[in-house]
Amino acid sequence: MREQLIDLSYLVASILFILCLRGLSSPEQGRRGVLLGELGMLVAVVATLFKAEILSFEWIIVGLLIGGAIGTAISLRLPMTKMPERIAFSHAFGGLATMLVGITEYHKHHPIVHLADAAAPHGALDRLTIGALSFEVFLGSLTFTGSIMAFGKLQGFITGAPVTYKGQNAMNIGAFFVALGLLVYQVIDPAGAPTWAFLAMAGIGLALGVLGVLPIGGADMPVVISLLNSYAGLAACATGFALHSNILIISGALDGSSGFLLSMLMSKAMNRSFANVVFGAFGTGDSGGAPAAGAGGVAKIHNEATVEDAAAVLQASQTVIIVPGYGMAVSQAQHAVRDLCAALEKRGTEVKYAIHPVAGRMPGHMNVLLAEANVPYDQLYDLDMINDDFARTDCVIVVGANDVVNPAAKTDKSSPIYGMPVFDVEQSKSIIVLKRSMNPGFSGVENELFFLPNTMMVLGDAKKTLTALFNEVKGGGGH
Ligand code: NAP
Repeated sequence: MREQLIDLSYLVASILFILCLRGLSSPEQGRRGVLLGELGMLVAVVATLFKAEILSFEWIIVGLLIGGAIGTAISLRLPMTKMPERIAFSHAFGGLATMLVGITEYHKHHPIVHLADAAAPHGALDRLTIGALSFEVFLGSLTFTGSIMAFGKLQGFITGAPVTYKGQNAMNIGAFFVALGLLVYQVIDPAGAPTWAFLAMAGIGLALGVLGVLPIGGADMPVVISLLNSYAGLAACATGFALHSNILIISGALDGSSGFLLSMLMSKAMNRSFANVVFGAFGTGDSGGAPAAGAGGVAKIHNEATVEDAAAVLQASQTVIIVPGYGMAVSQAQHAVRDLCAALEKRGTEVKYAIHPVAGRMPGHMNVLLAEANVPYDQLYDLDMINDDFARTDCVIVVGANDVVNPAAKTDKSSPIYGMPVFDVEQSKSIIVLKRSMNPGFSGVENELFFLPNTMMVLGDAKKTLTALFNEVKGGGGH
């Protein structure tokens, strides 16, 4: 009876996880989705605590208290811009946990170290179980070190620049096949395969996590993190097969497939092939390039405007589109954007927000920030929904966005961002760009938009400029 109730709870938890993922695919349902996922996790954890295999709770309570305290501190103190780092950190521990669970399970059958008071070994593992355990330990160890590397690159502990050397890909692929060979060896001969083969496979996983992330630029880390998320999910799924746990199989499969789909979607939105992200050594994550120079090295002239100039254009506009980007997140300008838009709407101006799928540094970055500032969802438009509107718009305010409004993606075949879908911002009557300097963005390429005659550059921190614009606009009269 107890086992049946636990299985029923797992079924409920699995349904909640699926509803969570469904909710996360839209900004309106996002919060509800997160809550359903949390509820599903609670149901799964509580049901597991009733399992007959759990003999004492001391260590579980210690783990719960330490993990809960760290998780609460992180969620209270961490700014939104640090979310990719936080996710990388969580995946690292997810990978470590999976690896340790797998090694412990293996140790029960093939003792790795001989302890004086150890119980007698359980006998050789069957082929399916050793296969699942090996897969779990290999992916878990790779996820652990790979995520630590991703975290280090984003935090700047490790250079964000791609580290490449001759024969790198051949060496990594070779190491992968050696690990695969060791895995197959254990499946073919579970009783005879030596312990070193299992441990060597885990060691290669740890090394590949480091070596595989080294050649990838810091700026591509969000895609890598979502790929590692997928590995962590697959490792958990394999753990489910090894431990005969349905909830781990289902939740691991959901995690693995959703992480993989997300990586594919992010690559597609950047118009990069998956292979190009993983082997391409693109992007350093720095936005500190030199100001643009035209042909022959002559510096191009941009039209630098004051807040008063920009406010005058806004006051004369009947339609305005806001294009937020990574700089809005850095400046935490989302509330100031909302205030300015409210002041414009009060004057009878129609305001829309154009949300690019890869604006910022993680999927949904702009949606999360604007939702936090209570911007109504029905004012947020996807690229496909709004791109035709720019030609009919009086003024576009680009708030800390750069690559997602770079016309080179449409016109310059030699540009690293060529082919990435971008907003047709240049077609609107006037453009106000808010950023601190003429430096390039994520991809490191210059932006012709900033030098067009209908573009006004208002340089400075986006939040400060928006607050000054708000004061000007609210003080002015109606159309
Ligand atoms: P971006 O190209 O990185 O440009 C951001 C701009 O914000 C910079 O040019 C910077 O210029 C400005 N900025 C920084 N701090 C600011 C502040 N305090 N006030 C005002 N401006 C500030 O950003 P994006 O247009 O959002 O494009 C996102 C890029 O990230 C794309 O290339 C995308 O492929 C990539 N990416 C996105 C994801 C994702 O999931 N969203 C994942 C991986 C990669 P200044 O330094 O001059 O101020």
